Amino acid sequence: MNRAAEQQIATLARWIDDASYVVGLTGAGVSTESGIPDFRSGGGLWAEADPEKVASIGGFLADPEGFYRFWGRKHPVFTDAQPNVAHRVLAELEARGLLHALITQNIDGLHFKAGSEKVLEVHGSLRTASCIACRRPEPIESVFEEATRRAPTCMTCGGLVKPDVVLFGEMLPPAFEAGQKEVDRADLLLVFGSSLEVFPVADLVPRAKQVGSKIVLVNREPGAFAGIADLIVLGELGEAMHRLGRELGFER
Ligand code: NAD
Repeated sequence: MNRAAEQQIATLARWIDDASYVVGLTGAGVSTESGIPDFRSGGGLWAEADPEKVASIGGFLADPEGFYRFWGRKHPVFTDAQPNVAHRVLAELEARGLLHALITQNIDGLHFKAGSEKVLEVHGSLRTASCIACRRPEPIESVFEEATRRAPTCMTCGGLVKPDVVLFGEMLPPAFEAGQKEVDRADLLLVFGSSLEVFPVADLVPRAKQVGSKIVLVNREPGAFAGIADLIVLGELGEAMHRLGRELGFER
């Protein structure tokens, strides 16, 4: 890590200490070092599948078997993944009262695995599944097991069963509105590992700016909204978060 980045992280640590309400927003970039590919980087998920087919509600309804063929291969990558230093530092920030809410676009549950509690999963989760017609919950493992033979259906009403992830074309869950309320209270918004290309979540960034919050982006590339950021830390998240933890006096 170069000197400039070290100084930026020292500034970030000072801002965290001084802020009164800190909100985090994470994207797929925080989990790549746990072995889960993001969407848009080279070698990301979109390099091997058409988002229209495997990540939209229209694609799911048109070809549920195809949807499950793709996600059935990916599911073990998500369930086997373990939190990395970024998840752990964010959990520690919350435990020390330095992070008041964590909005995540990720569906991998790694923030919970790392010990974070105030997590808002605005794109849902791959840990649970339910019937798209009657909302009856179904255990995710048996859903993926059944999907190896046929598209899983609900025992009660016969409707299609889908993992509780938000697909393109679907409404966002109540967690999103809760996230908007958190952002409205923030005086510091920290964005980690997101290209900020997916809306309406990306709108949280200008929303924070409007309420007078500072914006910090920590990512491999500046991405959208670099123009309104107060601080941009460019680099690998593992290294940056490790350094941030040290700046804040975390032991491990
Ligand atoms: P994205 O793929 O659009 O952007 C990820 C960003 O993180 C990119 O700018 C990339 O350069 C950066 N990045 C990747 N690894 C990094 C690292 N080690 N250090 C620093 N930067 C790194 O992802 P997004 O913005 O979250 O939006 C796309 C959607 O992807 C979200 O809706 C989310 O639900 C979904 N998604 C989630 C997972 C997951 O749960 N882990 C995985 C893939 C996609």
